Amino acid sequence: MEKLLSTSRRIEIVKENCKIIQERVAETAIKSGRAPEDVRLMAVTKTVEPVLINTALEQGIDLIGENRVQEFLSKEPDLHLEGVEKHLIGHLQKNKVRQIVGKVDMIESVDSIELAAEIAKRSAMQAITTPVLLEVNIGEEESKFGFAKENLDEVLAQIAQLENIEVRGLMCIPPICEKKEEIRAFFSQMHQIYIDFSSKIFNNINMNVLSMGMSGDFEEAILEGSSLVRVGSAIFGERIYR
Ligand SMILES: *Cc1c(COP(=O)(O)O)cnc(C)c1O
Repeated sequence: MEKLLSTSRRIEIVKENCKIIQERVAETAIKSGRAPEDVRLMAVTKTVEPVLINTALEQGIDLIGENRVQEFLSKEPDLHLEGVEKHLIGHLQKNKVRQIVGKVDMIESVDSIELAAEIAKRSAMQAITTPVLLEVNIGEEESKFGFAKENLDEVLAQIAQLENIEVRGLMCIPPICEKKEEIRAFFSQMHQIYIDFSSKIFNNINMNVLSMGMSGDFEEAILEGSSLVRVGSAIFGERIYR
């Protein structure tokens, strides 16, 4: 969205976008053989000002995702978060865990055993259990965070030993693909892995979230079984990084 647009015009655009995306998510959920409420829509709020985030929340969005601990904590006082779930979706450094545990409802970007252990430790200090997703590097890209799918068995076995952390599912950011069929193949692989692990019994592992799909590909993700889509620019417009 052009930064030259007035705030009131940008609010109008966010309202329209929310309605359109909410409808597309619901329609695609039905197309995938599920009910609209089986697929959650997250508004990804990185770089977005509180006034626009609050606009999305007024449109019935009840889940937001932020990438950075600092950015989330600084915007939080200005957000109308009653009844709204907050997830951390960006790479989390171990030294920031202390600041975010207890402040969000889920950490979707657990990408190492050490990080899981730190989240468990800091959660124990607050006498809480933190729900997390394991990030899978489904495209096996050097540049991306996440566990290799081959290691997931071992990772789950180790995380199952930890207290105060509960694995609720999987998350991925697939490679940029030119063709819709290519991206669908990655989503389909993720769904298969998710189904395989959901059926295994570990004491603190209770999988019911498969977080995949962003602005450009959320419909493909839903058709392949996503239960949570993370949509930023299709709601708020192009991000302006400062
Ligand atoms: C930014 C971001 C998104 C949203 O991306 P859009 O393409 O703007 O929808 C989703 N997931 C993660 C992890 C992100 O960092």
